[in-house]
Amino acid sequence: MSTELRRDLRQLIDRICGDYPDAYWREVDAERRYPEEFVDALTGTGCLGALVPETYGGLGLGIGDASVILEGINANGGNAGPVHAQLYTMGSLLRHGSEEQKERYLPSIASGELRLQAFGVTEPSAGTDTTSIRTTATRTDDGYVVNGQKVFISRVQHSDLMLLLARTTPQESAAKKSDGISLFLIDLREAEGVDLRPIRTMVNHETNEVFFDNVHIPADSLIGEEGRGFRYVLDGMNAERILIAAECIGDGRWFVRRAAQYGSERVVFDRPIGQNQGVQFPIAKAHVHVEAADLMRWRACDLFDEGEACGAEANMAKLLAADASWEAANAALQTHGGYGFAAEYDIERKFRETRLYQVAPVSTNLILSYIGQHVLKMPRSF
Ligand SMILES: Cc1cc2nc3c(=O)[nH]c(=O)nc-3n(C[C@H](O)[C@H](O)[C@H](O)COP(=O)(O)OP(=O)(O)OC[C@H]3O[C@@H](n4cnc5c(N)ncnc54)[C@H](O)[C@@H]3O)c2cc1C
Repeated sequence: MSTELRRDLRQLIDRICGDYPDAYWREVDAERRYPEEFVDALTGTGCLGALVPETYGGLGLGIGDASVILEGINANGGNAGPVHAQLYTMGSLLRHGSEEQKERYLPSIASGELRLQAFGVTEPSAGTDTTSIRTTATRTDDGYVVNGQKVFISRVQHSDLMLLLARTTPQESAAKKSDGISLFLIDLREAEGVDLRPIRTMVNHETNEVFFDNVHIPADSLIGEEGRGFRYVLDGMNAERILIAAECIGDGRWFVRRAAQYGSERVVFDRPIGQNQGVQFPIAKAHVHVEAADLMRWRACDLFDEGEACGAEANMAKLLAADASWEAANAALQTHGGYGFAAEYDIERKFRETRLYQVAPVSTNLILSYIGQHVLKMPRSF
């Protein structure tokens, strides 16, 4: 697990993050600003092209290596959310795109010249039930016309390209409800009729409502075969879950470190508060849970990199890591008392950021339902 490459990657990320200390993240959070300077610095290292094969100009690394990058950002007090999708959104293009599409886009994605970090799945009326999406892509002589609405679509204002999931066959006419959904790669620089309404959220995460009003896209925007888009998206989910798990591990370690340090230094009743086991034990327990979740994260990474099935492990890693980071966040907040709520201590910022991973990109309930249905073979609930 600690190959030389991974050690080098950790050192590289620590060094970059050293230039972007807590005060930087606090400021961009307060201003709800995209951390452009940090993203540029990271892009310059080539790290965001980690998963693009070398033949297309990327680093050709494995998911375990890529996970070290994202973990490191969060473990240093930063937030990998603004960059993580540049690493993995291209996976659908890589696995299902034509050779022509891959050659056209992947080298520029690997170099960071083109950003593909917007992924339009969620819709207001469908929610978690992706097969009920209503955005349509209707065939024309030379392409498709897209109409519909998406919600919570992140980083659109900082992306050149967007992967979009849309219905090409109405659900009623499809053999299965997951059929008839197609995946498109849209060039946002050229598309006319795409409107955004930014959503202010509790975290500094650029996310938007996106409206498609008769948006004409060329025929070669289609990724893979028409009607199979839902499967293509499912294919990419293991990578996403593993990488988000690694971010949560990074968060968890940051919270535990900060809590242990503060608990050892803050003196009340003439002794460090961390000497009281009522303060010490929740931090110790959170540490145990973060480290246990990390084992599942590495199990999922190794299976993924060996090309083995890893749906169960990727989902379990995401659930365990998100729960562990949330537990660590609570322990850190409690340890800091009132100061945990003060922005200058950064606990409240990271507390908000790590809370997101109970809900997005997949909620805890949906992971449990995957485990119940697909791993334990229990009755299907939906
Ligand atoms: C900051 C942020 C960024 C996001 N970025 C993106 C993005 O870039 N692209 C994108 O496509 N989406 C994005 N999302 C959307 C995110 O993936 C969804 O919010 C999430 O999948 C849940 O969908 P929903 O909000 O419609 O909740 P709902 O589907 O309405 O669910 C609400 C709650 O009910 C639970 N629930 C629903 N059905 C069941 C069931 N059958 N059994 C048990 N529990 C159930 C869910 O688990 C959830 O906790 C983002 C969301 C946020 C908050």
